[in-house]
Amino acid sequence: MLGVVPCRTNRTRVEGGPLGAALRLVPRGGLALRRELVPRRGVVAILGRQPSVSGVENGSSQLDRLAEEIVACRACPRLVAWREGVAATRRASFRDQEYWGRPVAGFGDSRATIAVVGLAPAAHGANRTGRIFTGDRSGDWLFASMHRVGLANQASSTGLDDGLRLSGAWICSAVRCAPPDNKPTPQERDRCLPFLSRELDALDSVKVVVALGQFAYEVLARLLAIRPRPRFGHGVEATSPDGTVVICSYHPSQQNTFTGRLTEPMLDSVFTRAIGL
Ligand code: SF4
Repeated sequence: MLGVVPCRTNRTRVEGGPLGAALRLVPRGGLALRRELVPRRGVVAILGRQPSVSGVENGSSQLDRLAEEIVACRACPRLVAWREGVAATRRASFRDQEYWGRPVAGFGDSRATIAVVGLAPAAHGANRTGRIFTGDRSGDWLFASMHRVGLANQASSTGLDDGLRLSGAWICSAVRCAPPDNKPTPQERDRCLPFLSRELDALDSVKVVVALGQFAYEVLARLLAIRPRPRFGHGVEATSPDGTVVICSYHPSQQNTFTGRLTEPMLDSVFTRAIGL
């Protein structure tokens, strides 16, 4: 079911997506009309059993509603089967925990000037805890860095009740369901893109987006209509037609941090640069 709502922004917008409409990138300018995707009948009842689907600081009903819609999405059969299968079988070390097993919405400060975008929830990280980059090694690195530069109140991120608060920053992912081998298909990527588009629209103070890894960068470059698109590399910057700056970072995956490809000073420097812009 599709509705139509007005939105005022200069960013490229994405129409259609998770609930069946065709994906279309539409350049924006001034007052535009946007399709508002409405959850299918029945999913609201599922939401009623959830303790929380949104970790929004400074209140935003728009982001709260979007979080509810994201968490209810079942548009990608392969990813739904994977995320729920992982949640049912669990890793031995988390056998006593109930996995989230659903899509993961963004969280942070609704007045953020910096958005941080990763690839997708980790199978035993955010797919377990329900908060992006929470409960895995990548998150340990990410939040430690954000704490060092003053964007997070603590360095650790272990679960929804761990007290983590972000100030001036928002974190989300390009794809909202954990994919097998961390590899969404192009169709799954495109189906999920409207959620990121709408999230960035709702975060109207964001001036800088930190892309964690090449996948996130390529999604953002499309979404923000960056042309020409500089080649991905750590510290590379690109500016969209509406003035949003994208800064690339190597992803804080274990593969990158164990090998020294990404060091703590390298990640800190990206956030320090983002704060300074
Ligand atoms: S990846 Fe995105 S579009 Fe696909 S089921 Fe998950 S939330 Fe829905």
